[in-house]
Amino acid sequence: MMILFLGVSCGDAGNGNRAARDETVAEEHPRVIPEFNADSAYYFVDRQVAFGPRVPNTEAHQQAGRWLAERLGGFADTLYTQETRVRAYDGTVLQIKNIIGAFQPEARRRILLCAHWDSRPYADHDPDPEYHYTPIDGANDGASGVGVLLEIARLLQKEQPMLGVDIIFFDAEDYGNHRLSDRPDEDNWALGSQHWARNPHRPDYNARYGILLDMVGASGATFKREGYSMLYAPGVVRKVWDTARELNYGHMFINEDGGYVIDDHYYVNTIRNIPTINIIHQDESTEHGFFPEWHTMGDTMDVIDRYTLRVVGEVVTKLIYNE
Ligand SMILES: [Zn+2]
Repeated sequence: MMILFLGVSCGDAGNGNRAARDETVAEEHPRVIPEFNADSAYYFVDRQVAFGPRVPNTEAHQQAGRWLAERLGGFADTLYTQETRVRAYDGTVLQIKNIIGAFQPEARRRILLCAHWDSRPYADHDPDPEYHYTPIDGANDGASGVGVLLEIARLLQKEQPMLGVDIIFFDAEDYGNHRLSDRPDEDNWALGSQHWARNPHRPDYNARYGILLDMVGASGATFKREGYSMLYAPGVVRKVWDTARELNYGHMFINEDGGYVIDDHYYVNTIRNIPTINIIHQDESTEHGFFPEWHTMGDTMDVIDRYTLRVVGEVVTKLIYNE
């Protein structure tokens, strides 16, 4: 994904009519919340990475896509796969696949959970220029969000919440401009979610709100209130951050404004009009604003920490089962 600017508070710009659509009311339900298993989530991350870099138009990508559809389809009530071709910033035609699992598809009250399953074709932020055109594992940038959502899918099958849930694994999020490319950068990221937002798996698709997970597995992760999330879905941000604080995870879900990140949620908000937030690791101490191994060869299983997966998984699970 691409960060636009860091550390700038969005103030109250644009909050007016968007905020009205937000879901802010949550009653207290004394309900059983199934236990999020971090080992299971870790296993789901590891299995994706084991296919090799999941770059569109490669064999590893195809194999990983088949595996993901099989796993998500095994948990969900209905599986949709959405295959299409899109054109990347450099003209390459990418064969892509969005993978969608619907739980209680007949329920009218629904929420949307999503992550991207592809990995970046270039380690263009690697400290060693030799790797600037080498694909990355994307253990954190991609696989971590999908791993957490597969574990949540497993729980949803065991214990039905009070509303319908859709889990979407978007393809081709991370095929945006190479850092050395001088082509225009507009709308080159998140190609899979742009396609889905214009052509949802059900034509009349809607959800009360959405949550995107991106880079949710590195040790020492911190999640700040991402700019577009605050612009389009401030009530959802509040609800998620409040849930984190109730679970004593306020040290990771920090009450500070982060940067604005062009990511899948941006298009779910702007094209589909579903208020959607991004839980994304932001780190002011790095030059690019993300975790230190972002878009480098170092984004491997070595950066993945079960504790971070657990924190994010427990927060989202509690939210779902309290709805
Ligand atoms: Zn990325």
